[in-house]
Amino acid sequence: HPSPLGEISPADARAEHARLGEDIARYDRAYYQEDAPLVPDSEYDAARRRYEELEQLFPELVTAESLTKKVGAKPSEKFAKVKHAVPMLSLGNVFSDEEVRDFIARVRRFLGLAESATVACTAEPKIDGLSCSLRYERGHLVQAATRGDGYEGEDVTANIRTLKEVPQRLHDGAPEVLEVRGEVYMTHADFAALNERQRAAGRQVFANPRNAAAGSLRQLDSRITAERPLHFFAYGWGEASALPAKTQWGVLEAFQRYGLMVNPRTRLCASVEEMLAHYHAIEADRATLGYDIDGVVYKVDDIALQERLGFVSRAPRWAVAHKFPAERATTILHGIEIQV
Ligand code: NAD
Repeated sequence: HPSPLGEISPADARAEHARLGEDIARYDRAYYQEDAPLVPDSEYDAARRRYEELEQLFPELVTAESLTKKVGAKPSEKFAKVKHAVPMLSLGNVFSDEEVRDFIARVRRFLGLAESATVACTAEPKIDGLSCSLRYERGHLVQAATRGDGYEGEDVTANIRTLKEVPQRLHDGAPEVLEVRGEVYMTHADFAALNERQRAAGRQVFANPRNAAAGSLRQLDSRITAERPLHFFAYGWGEASALPAKTQWGVLEAFQRYGLMVNPRTRLCASVEEMLAHYHAIEADRATLGYDIDGVVYKVDDIALQERLGFVSRAPRWAVAHKFPAERATTILHGIEIQV
């Protein structure tokens, strides 16, 4: 049991921080490299929160190696590596309507806008899969990579080519170079059927649809990926020789014209009230979507403002994930459903 932060000595804090760091690194390897989590997300998140709290209280614990600055895990040695021209980072989290208002207030302050100024944002379901970067040159898909540690990912080009929703060629009008970023995911129904087949064949059973999607995409033999029903939603971009619009919303519209899938529950919101209304509407429909989402991502719509806001540590200042409250935590480990 961790001691209350106020009472912990610097030496104990250092020891606990080191211990948590080792645990988290081990959890990250299992989750990101083996697609087989060692602990439920709630336990992982609690370890991370404690680790961050210790660093806030004892800033001398923060080093260049600190896990609070890191994303994902190093690419697995099994795959060829791909260096991302533009890093693939994470997202900050908020958990309440109040914190969403604070996010917008921070954006206004950073940009020097009046308190009454509107900041249009997109509100997009946060798909619970794994992110993937698709590189198109002159409209042709030439490379696909996982996020890896944000700077270097795994080359999964042959595997991505087996997804029906990933066009080999974009429709006319796409820029010369365009890296499309989005989420590869598996539906609930396909996840259940896959685990059924895996179990019958005495093979690995996946903990959840996210791990099943990651395990299916990260195969050395693309024929196996081809047998796994994976889907793709585009929501962002990396390197681009030019952008087809000046707004997030406009780029997502262009993606659809190019033949990419964009999540149909994405909305452009003119105010915080609209963002929150859309969040609660999506939350109400969450169980009927047929695939896992774990929140709603808000992104400042104006790309010039996104560029001014930039990044802090491992997340953009112009976007935030509004997480859903933990559902009745159900963990499926080794095919057995456990209620926590
Ligand atoms: P994250 O997954 O919470 O958020 C960032 C990701 O959101 C992006 O990389 C992208 O893939 C995804 N995303 C989905 N829809 C998006 C949209 N519309 N726009 C932008 N991005 C979108 O953050 P993270 O840092 O990748 O991972 C942390 C998560 O992984 C936590 O939920 C944690 O519990 C879990 N995890 C669990 C374990 C474990 O052992 N159980 C280990 C490591 C991580």
